[in-house]
Amino acid sequence: MKPYCRDTWVEVDLDAIRANVQAFRRHIPASTGIMAVVKADGYGHGAFHVGREALDSGANSLAVAMLDEAIVLRKAGITAPILVLGYTPTDSVVTASRWEVELTAYHADWMTEANRLLQEASAKPVGIHIKVDTGMGRLGVRSKDELFAVVEALENSPLLRWAGIFTHFATADEPDVTLVCEQHERFQSYLRALRETGRRLPRVHCANTAASIAFPEWGYDTIRLGIGLYGLYPSAYMKQQARVQLVPALSLKTRIAHLKHMTEPPYTISYGATYTAQPGEQIASLPIGYADGFSRLLSNRGSVLVNGCRAPVVGRVCMDQIMVRIDHGTARVGDEVVLYGRQGDEEISLDEVADCLGTINYEVACMLDHRIPRVYL
Ligand code: PLP
Repeated sequence: MKPYCRDTWVEVDLDAIRANVQAFRRHIPASTGIMAVVKADGYGHGAFHVGREALDSGANSLAVAMLDEAIVLRKAGITAPILVLGYTPTDSVVTASRWEVELTAYHADWMTEANRLLQEASAKPVGIHIKVDTGMGRLGVRSKDELFAVVEALENSPLLRWAGIFTHFATADEPDVTLVCEQHERFQSYLRALRETGRRLPRVHCANTAASIAFPEWGYDTIRLGIGLYGLYPSAYMKQQARVQLVPALSLKTRIAHLKHMTEPPYTISYGATYTAQPGEQIASLPIGYADGFSRLLSNRGSVLVNGCRAPVVGRVCMDQIMVRIDHGTARVGDEVVLYGRQGDEEISLDEVADCLGTINYEVACMLDHRIPRVYL
């Protein structure tokens, strides 16, 4: 029996995840590890399944945005190192210790307070990665003085273990490399300043997917592989360059729920009656809508694949349903429809949908709601 009832599902091809990890493995130096970034439930693909496949395929650790995401992975049985890339309030540090999750920090007071709370709870040490802001302007220390204050606070905190130091690039996916090179130079100058004091550096990392593709020599101890893991390029420019061959892992599919031959009135379709069918058109209703993450902005703009051909979305996308016009061949209730992915020789890529929505493939994948079951191939 199917573990779900609805006729709409996301297919995630784990062989594609494996192929993508291996493609990066070949592209970066052998001494550089791979941290698979599975935040936002694996960019909508499913953090546990993708994370486990990535680890089985050669990744060494995982990263998430927040501690709750890490705990879900631990509860599901992942034992590999997990790093929280975002901010963690100090009142969660004891929880991080209990679940053996590494945290990102960048403030001396945070270190002192975290250490105090761990001591109070008689908790085990927590691994800390210091974040350096070299030009992303989001999180991290912004000067050498700040860095040394944070490092000293960490060294004076017996229940915090210095596990890493990292930065994040803002423009690594763009053809103009000026800022990314400046950021890297700034990062190197922080590392040099630390080495000059005789300190041994912990794990050093800076490269996201884009930097891993463009500058594999900047891998240091590990890359942080996000979008590339899922077979998607960080930008149109990187896709065009195709320096690493990637295989998209995600497809979004449904089945025709209802079919109408518009032979007589009423000819109007969906809320607002923004589409009027011509007599004779074939209109299919599909059980997916904006509540699933199929954006309402695709109303009268997007298309899906039926019989290996494009079928345009007609009328407004509803919360749970859409209508499409079938221009090629005949269809039947129950026929498979591809919303994102391949059918025959046709493909609707997440990049195409992102372009149509004026956003990026990352958001299109993350938008897919949890009420769509994920099926792993
Ligand atoms: N590192 C950090 C700090 C991030 O925030 C992200 C994603 O946003 C990544 C790595 C992975 O980036 P990408 O998905 O572009 O590879």
